Amino acid sequence: MNTKKARLNVRKLFLLLAVITPLAATVWAIVLLWNKHVDWADLFALFLFYVLTATGVGIGFHRMLTHKSFEAPAPVRFLFLAFGSMALEGPAIEWAATHNKHHAKSDKEGDPHSPLEGFWHAHLGWLFRDRFIRSGVWAKPYENDRTARIADKTFAFWAVLGFILPGLLTLWIGSGFWSGVLWGGLVRIFLVHHITWSVNSVCHTFGRRVFRSNDRSRNEWIIGILGLGEGWHNNHHAFPKAAYHGMRWWQFDLNGYVIRLLKWLRLVRNVWMPKREDIQKRLI
Ligand SMILES: [Zn+2]
Ligand SMILES: [Zn+2]
Repeated sequence: MNTKKARLNVRKLFLLLAVITPLAATVWAIVLLWNKHVDWADLFALFLFYVLTATGVGIGFHRMLTHKSFEAPAPVRFLFLAFGSMALEGPAIEWAATHNKHHAKSDKEGDPHSPLEGFWHAHLGWLFRDRFIRSGVWAKPYENDRTARIADKTFAFWAVLGFILPGLLTLWIGSGFWSGVLWGGLVRIFLVHHITWSVNSVCHTFGRRVFRSNDRSRNEWIIGILGLGEGWHNNHHAFPKAAYHGMRWWQFDLNGYVIRLLKWLRLVRNVWMPKREDIQKRLI
C-alpha cells in the first residue's frame, strides 16, 4: 500500500513538472519574442511539431486507437502513436483507456474529467486526482494490440525524442539546438496540452449542441480550428466512431483531411462514417 502511495506521489510530481515547466518556458519564450530574439526557424519548429504531435494525439491516440475509426498497417499506426507520445499526455493505452471511460460515463458519476466537478477540474485538476486508467475493463480493447503495447511501453523514449528532434531541426536550419527545444519542445507542449484539455473543459461547457447526445458535449469552433478538428466535440459524442469530426464543409478538421489523404494514398482502410440519414436523425 505504501509503495503504491509513494509511486502515486512521484507521479504527481512528474505531472506537476509537466504542467509547470511548459508554462514557465512559454512565458520566457514570449519575453524573447517581445525582445525580437526569435528566429523564423523557431516558429517553424513550433508549427511543425505542433501539427505532428497534435495529429499524433487526435488521429493516432483518439480516432485510430481509442475509437477504431479506421484501420492501418502497423508502421503507419506506430508512427501516429509515436508522435502522439511526444505530446506528453501519457502512454497510448493509458490515454485510450481513460478516454474510453470518458465516453462510457460522459458527464456522469465515474467520468474522469467532467466539468460538473468544476471547469478547472475538467481542464487539468483531474490529472492530479489519480483518474488515469491503465488496466481493467476500459483498457481491455487495447491490451491485445501489439503495436499499441510497444508504443505504450516505449513512451519515455518518444517523450524525450519530442525535445531532441525539434532541437536538431533548429540546429540544422539556423537558430541552434536549445532554441528548438524551447519552441518546438516546451512551448509546443504547452499549446498541445491546453488545447487538448480544452476539449474536455471548454467543449463540455461552451459552444453549440447540434446533435442529441447523452452528455453535455458541444461544438466550439475556436477549439475546432486550434485542435485540428477535435473541437467539434458534440459531433464526436453523437458519433464516437466517426473518422471525420467536421460534418459540415466549414467545420475545419485537419485530422479528418489527413485521414482522407491517407485513404486516397491507400495507407488506411475501412474508414468509418455514419450514414447520412443516421446523421440527420440525430439532429436536434
Ligand atoms: Zn467529451
Ligand atoms: Zn472520443
